[in-house]
Amino acid sequence: MKVLVLNCGSSTLKFQIIETSESGAVERKLARGIVDRIGGQASYHFEADGAAAVNNALVVRDHEAAVGLVIEWLGSKPGLKPIDAVGHRVVHGGDRFTSAVLIDDDVIATLEALCELAPLHNPGAVSGIRAARKILGDAIPMVAAFDTSFHHTIPQQAAIYAIPYELSQRHKIRRYGFHGLAHQHDIARYAELVGKPPTQVSAVTLHLGNGCSATAIRNGQSIDTSMGFTPLEGLVMGTRSGDVDPALVSYLARKERVDAAEIDNWLNKLSGLLGLSGISNDMRELTAAYQTNPRARLAVDVFCYRARKYLGAYLSILEGSAEAVIFSGGIGENSALVRKNILNAMAWCGIRLDDAANETMIGRDGRISAPQSKLDVFVIHTDEEAIIARETARVLEKK
Ligand code: AMP
Repeated sequence: MKVLVLNCGSSTLKFQIIETSESGAVERKLARGIVDRIGGQASYHFEADGAAAVNNALVVRDHEAAVGLVIEWLGSKPGLKPIDAVGHRVVHGGDRFTSAVLIDDDVIATLEALCELAPLHNPGAVSGIRAARKILGDAIPMVAAFDTSFHHTIPQQAAIYAIPYELSQRHKIRRYGFHGLAHQHDIARYAELVGKPPTQVSAVTLHLGNGCSATAIRNGQSIDTSMGFTPLEGLVMGTRSGDVDPALVSYLARKERVDAAEIDNWLNKLSGLLGLSGISNDMRELTAAYQTNPRARLAVDVFCYRARKYLGAYLSILEGSAEAVIFSGGIGENSALVRKNILNAMAWCGIRLDDAANETMIGRDGRISAPQSKLDVFVIHTDEEAIIARETARVLEKK
């Protein structure tokens, strides 16, 4: 089956064409691309196996125009036709979608209602779905895969906030968790690498990119995760603060004479690595300046400290059943310094890094723990698109 995977953000569209086997396993990736800065003067980059890449800039007024651009380009590549299905990435599935779902009018209406819970993330996906249906018609089945659904197994004691119960009920407030497609991929890939079924592995996954989250996974299921009602909670991220005392919001609003929306913006866009360092949200720049710039060092140290704190907490709620710590995301896959700093003080639970393997395991999958380590430590390259293609094939197979 040839699946077009669409990942629509507020002003971007990323796509891949993935060929899956009968069982839904990914066979081959045939094409990929991105349209950036949708809504104005956009740029795009498309590439297919065996053909020259195309780069261009032009006005792309909305998601419909962006999807149209991709479909037109795919149409000009005989090897990529016909598309059998489309898999859409959707960030928030609320409490309604606990797994990937075949898209129909009712699903779209529910996704639109969910935009209230995820105003920054869901509207782009809904626009992409509407555009793809308009252009491709009803004949091509479409599936939505959610970043929240992997976390629907989190028990109530971990999901609920200790605020008045009625408020949680009235406003559907709970810890939904995000990055689920990434964590689901990473645990499945780890299971594959060690030759076990995913339902028999327990681990802590540390997905560290521009956004960062940790997940405690028992027997293949998420039992806790660091992001909460929104993707702001938990670890220190590129520009997001992660955990803070909620009283800071009213205190800062009073002291700085701004409203809550402004503080929300500071916590999401001006905090994290960027806010701490005053230099950059890019871990490459900060690790390069680690020895020479105290603020860069502070940002990296706080980032690693928070990740270690969550790792310790999650090893504890897994009650000793964790067999692995898994690093993924742009930082987790590429920064030996960050991995070492996070795990440095973890010898108490028997984690031992293989320093040479840690230094050389950059951008590829493999073990970085020493043979005597009580837990495996793995680096895994996250492939969310592969999970979306697999889920799309699985939903259609069931149908
Ligand atoms: P992602 O959101 O998963 O694409 O990750 C993006 C982030 O990965 C970037 O903002 C960088 O901070 C980080 N990154 C990429 N390459 C490296 C590297 N070689 N060393 C440290 N951080 C990196």
